[in-house]
Amino acid sequence: MKKKLIAGNWKMNGGLAANQALLQALLQDVATPACDVAVAVPAAYLAQGQALLQGSPISLAAQDVSQHEVGAYTGEVSAAMLGDFGVRYAIVGHSERRQYHGETDSVVATKAHRALAAGITPIVCVGETLAEREAGQTEVVVKRQLAAVIHLNGHCITEIVVAYEPVWAIGTGKTATAEQAQAVHAALRAQLSAASDKADRIRIVYGGSMNAANAAELLAQADIDGGLIGGASLKAPDFLKIIAAAQ
Ligand code: PEP
Repeated sequence: MKKKLIAGNWKMNGGLAANQALLQALLQDVATPACDVAVAVPAAYLAQGQALLQGSPISLAAQDVSQHEVGAYTGEVSAAMLGDFGVRYAIVGHSERRQYHGETDSVVATKAHRALAAGITPIVCVGETLAEREAGQTEVVVKRQLAAVIHLNGHCITEIVVAYEPVWAIGTGKTATAEQAQAVHAALRAQLSAASDKADRIRIVYGGSMNAANAAELLAQADIDGGLIGGASLKAPDFLKIIAAAQ
């Protein structure tokens, strides 16, 4: 059975002192976690994350990666640069990137492929808006977003993590019910199985107001292989409870 993955997305939060305190609090408690654990720190703190997490059971993750390999792209951070800091995972296609930075399915796919080429596992975010859910479009939207990423040179890529993150649940305190989340995860699993005979090994994690109180129920669903956690990953006791719930 594959291990669950619990990944924190700090977004644009933190500072040198706060990061150190948070990582130290996590490291004190997670000597041998039953699941894989990662934290996606802001790019400015990758060196700090690398120094503090080296040799620990917590992997370093990035919140984004450039779609370009190298060159005149001011402000961008390439996959190779992330690799220099020991980054293990990179979030791509987070709804905040799609919404505020106009990232299309094709940009997200290029980012995922750049990460893979640098040996970094992309955490590919998909998710519907409230309007799309209410219009009965949830499956169509998430399958379109995932299809854009998984097909490469006629093959289905399997070295990815998929994060189902309903946009209406991110940072809102409104979590998808376990049944709602499981239904979408099952649809994504079926899509992956149709594309590859190795689909079973792909982790599909849930994100959207997952917290210490609701994690166990969500993580008990058959097709929920972990969580991508925003707000609750900034509080060590909450994040540790979520890690403990991911057996
Ligand atoms: C996220 O940003 O990926 C996320 C799931 O945020 P939150 O847990 O705060 O809803």
